[in-house]
Amino acid sequence: MQYGRTTLSKFIIEEQRQSAERDEQLTALINDIQTSCKYIAAAIARGPLQGAHGSNATRNVQGETQQKLDVAANEIMLRSCEWGGQLAGMVSEEIPEPYSIPIEYPRGRYLLAFDPLDGSSNIDVNVTVGSVFSILRAPRGTEPATAEDFLQPGSQQVCAGYALYGPAAMLVLTLGRGVHGFSLDPEIGAYTLTHPNMQVPEETNEFAINASNERFWERPVQRYVAECVRGKTGIRGADFNMRWIASLVAEVHRILVRGGLFMYPRDNKDPRLAGRLRLLYEANPMAMIIEQAGGRASTGRGRILDLVPTSIHQRVPLVLGSKSEVERIERYHREFDAGTDEAFASPLFNAKSLFSGDFGFGNRG
Ligand code: MN
Ligand code: MN
Repeated sequence: MQYGRTTLSKFIIEEQRQSAERDEQLTALINDIQTSCKYIAAAIARGPLQGAHGSNATRNVQGETQQKLDVAANEIMLRSCEWGGQLAGMVSEEIPEPYSIPIEYPRGRYLLAFDPLDGSSNIDVNVTVGSVFSILRAPRGTEPATAEDFLQPGSQQVCAGYALYGPAAMLVLTLGRGVHGFSLDPEIGAYTLTHPNMQVPEETNEFAINASNERFWERPVQRYVAECVRGKTGIRGADFNMRWIASLVAEVHRILVRGGLFMYPRDNKDPRLAGRLRLLYEANPMAMIIEQAGGRASTGRGRILDLVPTSIHQRVPLVLGSKSEVERIERYHREFDAGTDEAFASPLFNAKSLFSGDFGFGNRG
């Protein structure tokens, strides 16, 4: 066993020492978050033994079926983070309104938004899931937080991170000075620095998208995917692999380690929704992490971190990963919106769908 390795607690203290923004409340808050993630990791690992897998009859604010572990992970985050006096309020995927800090506890100067369990439809098949969190400053100090207080652009985040419950449990975070990954050492129960200064590799031949939604995508996305699928014989001149785990945390982690592109774009499957993923506790924290690692995160039409949220559970289209690939998709959106997208006019383009048949692009409009 190696002694004296950098645990997450040690890393945060040393990080704060080096920065001008030394703040013990923030250190304590990140400690409470990592405690939550250890509890959740343990609950997931013991899940099938305790009958904690499976779904509840309940639905969350998004109308999605709640898994038992969605509810348990939410409780764990609330109980672990409410008591310490660092928070003015919390927003969770599983709660319609902001969570008020109980009056028996002091309040602090930070806001926490989280997805307690991401990818929870993967639980029963024992595939990697995670938790995602975002820390903001409370704009009105220690006053009880309102929904409006959370409506800050992602560029204001103080810290963003995710925990990943996979073959190894990990916690990856950024405080705005690079992205660092910690692996949970089960022998001593401590997240330990194993992936300092993670960088999104620029070279990529992988993309991830739920291809069953192909017919609902906007044409810039259809164009991008069609070009990748055409491989060596197409305009990209290279073969690509397609991935889809249906867990944002697992997708982002793969991109941090191996490069690539993830898309949950806007589509017309449900015209009421602007996208699938939630801005405050999915897109924003992941966008900060990806940008801090040298990548890019976009709606396809603009930088995620510049968006001013309009509601706490707002959904957005999300394209993130290797910078040049995200920029290519943004260019395809610009060309489409400007009507200068020559690829669509070309007979070469109107060849094949992903799996067969015609793309059926129809008329522009
Ligand atoms: Mn999620
Ligand atoms: Mn979730």
